[in-house]
Amino acid sequence: MKIIKNGTLVTSSKVFKSDILIENEKIKAIGMDFNEDGCEVIDAKGCLVFPAAVDVHTHFDLDVGNGVRSVDDFTQGSISAACGGVCTIVDHMAFGPKGCDLTHQPAVYHEMTKDKTYIDYSFHGTIQHVNDTILEQMQDLVDMGISSFKLYTTYGFKLNEKEILKVLRRARELGVTITVHCEDDDMVSYAKDELIKNNQILPKYHPESRPDLCEEAAVQNLISLSKLVDGSKLYVVHLSTKGGLEALKKERLNQNKNIHVETCSQYLVFDDSCYKNDNALKYTMSPPLRKKADIEALWEGIRDGFVDVIATDHCPFNLAIEKQRGKESFLKCPGGAPGVEERFSVVYTEGVAKGRISLEKFVEVMCENPARIFGAKNKGALIPGYDADIVIYDPKEKHILKHKNLHGNVDYSLYDGFEIQGEIKKVFLRGEMIVKNNQFLRKSPSGKFIHRVTKN
Ligand SMILES: [Zn+2]
Repeated sequence: MKIIKNGTLVTSSKVFKSDILIENEKIKAIGMDFNEDGCEVIDAKGCLVFPAAVDVHTHFDLDVGNGVRSVDDFTQGSISAACGGVCTIVDHMAFGPKGCDLTHQPAVYHEMTKDKTYIDYSFHGTIQHVNDTILEQMQDLVDMGISSFKLYTTYGFKLNEKEILKVLRRARELGVTITVHCEDDDMVSYAKDELIKNNQILPKYHPESRPDLCEEAAVQNLISLSKLVDGSKLYVVHLSTKGGLEALKKERLNQNKNIHVETCSQYLVFDDSCYKNDNALKYTMSPPLRKKADIEALWEGIRDGFVDVIATDHCPFNLAIEKQRGKESFLKCPGGAPGVEERFSVVYTEGVAKGRISLEKFVEVMCENPARIFGAKNKGALIPGYDADIVIYDPKEKHILKHKNLHGNVDYSLYDGFEIQGEIKKVFLRGEMIVKNNQFLRKSPSGKFIHRVTKN
């Protein structure tokens, strides 16, 4: 047994001094004056004790075609995540071969992850075309513990509205959540064509190829579709715009509790002025970075409970290698940026330390909501019976975030040089200390596939 002693616990409802008793990978009890006989005691004096974070939007080892893959595989990616206070990820799987069964990618991903992953993990199913077999097979994935699916309104495997409606109807039957990448493909395509026509294809033009209205329009449309299939559970991934948020807010105020909203740490920190410098390729991601007003609107949305989750969309490509494909044309640049290791301390700094959100809200959007919405039972909260996934954070320490101190494979960090308030001291996965003072301790992978449930 272990006792984490003298710390200040943070939950989504309160911040209080207490100790935690850990037994058999679980939180056994929360309280004071535990009998210490035979226990290992960990002193958390002066520190905050959080549930470990849950990142429900990563792309480890993502095959984007043309021989390019995101550069963190599940081994290095999970080590990096752990060092960033994350003990659970739900990865968005890559598209499979055209026309493949829904069960194709889970098999590929189990192969990529089994005995290779250091933290607990699951996958979102990927729906890249729709027919009766695919709709039928959604049940098979639920039986495997995959209780959410992703669909796209843009890119090569986008679904049309009729297909989305069929998926929503099936999802409602199964009680699963459909996550959606919202950008209107026709609008994006039009904007791109205009840029190409004017020969404006250098990396700095990337954000102009995906204006904020593309997101807002797709969000609006999705809301309409969801009304046709009333009661289906939806989740908008990586929301980046004030306009999209306004539409979703209105819906939530109309008592629609079936649409959840995620944003990502980069959309809370950087604006589109980043594309003006020489390193525009670093920030080439979809959706692109927006305006300062969008950033503040998103923070306000988090504070007011309209944004449920902060994730990362971690999708790393080396600046010196893969990203260079886009040097002459953003159209050729693999989209995505790293962030799984930085999210905890960056959101703490920008959110909590700067007074934008409370500690309780931090736990809600980083740990508890993502676990609950996606049915990762016993994750994301400091509650007896839950997995003892815990982060001990010293809020007093200040340090400069340096790329060289991170653990992923990618050659840059968006947050390099950021002044960080506080520091992750220790991370526990199911009761076992796996990180201490930025050192990763485990020698062999012990991450487990999480069988997620449909109720939330
Ligand atoms: Zn993504």
